[in-house]
Amino acid sequence: MHLLRGERISKSFGGVRALNGVDFHISEGEIVGLIGPNGAGKSTLFSVICGVPPDSGAILFHGQDIVGLRPDQICVRGIVRTFQQPRPFGNLTVLENVASAVLFGRHSRRPVRMAEARAVALQVLSFLKLEHRSGSLAGGLLLVERRRLELARAMATQPRLLLLDEVMAGLTPTETQEMMDMVLKIREERGITILVVEHIMKAVMGISQRIIVLSYGTKIAEGTPQEIAENDEVIKAYLGEKVA
Ligand code: ADP
Ligand code: MG
Repeated sequence: MHLLRGERISKSFGGVRALNGVDFHISEGEIVGLIGPNGAGKSTLFSVICGVPPDSGAILFHGQDIVGLRPDQICVRGIVRTFQQPRPFGNLTVLENVASAVLFGRHSRRPVRMAEARAVALQVLSFLKLEHRSGSLAGGLLLVERRRLELARAMATQPRLLLLDEVMAGLTPTETQEMMDMVLKIREERGITILVVEHIMKAVMGISQRIIVLSYGTKIAEGTPQEIAENDEVIKAYLGEKVA
């Protein structure tokens, strides 16, 4: 059984068909890349997986349809996403931001004491090499630190499936490499399955076992990084974007 499976998912905003009958699946333990030109529907796919109802289609997590569940219910079941524009609580510390995510994640099935939430948060921060910023206000972080905090908040919910939306955008090449290593480590050491949206081709090709390509809300290709790099329709979709 696939960990996550989407069947004929469609979602429109007014006249815009952001997703048009998309089928996809993710197996346990995979890192899958989701790519496509701007406006292809990648973030919208994340939204519908995480509780924004699609217009039609089914989304099965462990074989159970999760369409209609609220975002918090989906999070407790083990799916969490990051946002392209991180919005931490700027006037809380890094540690408080992560601890509050612990309280609302899968741990929330049973009462969690603040001391335990802080301990779990510290563990996650140390795993992501952000422990030294625990006491800093989130509002004052550098971009690379904000991106790591966004990742820490997601990991603190103890997901089984992590959806990463452009966590490397705006980073330097060195920071990007560090983030790639971290994503690989999350899968290796924590056993978390990952779906990653990324614009930096080298990064997404470097960490994904399989790639799904969207263009104008439609899945146009799926395969290994090598197959995708050589796929004519994918090349056309990207060149088309440059010409436009
Ligand atoms: P991507 O993440 O691949 O760049 P998006 O999923 O953000 O693409 O957007 C897909 C399309 O849906 C775009 O045309 C975008 O303008 C539109 N769209 C996305 N979210 C909304 C929204 N909340 N309201 C209106 N249009 C939206
Ligand atoms: Mg997007």
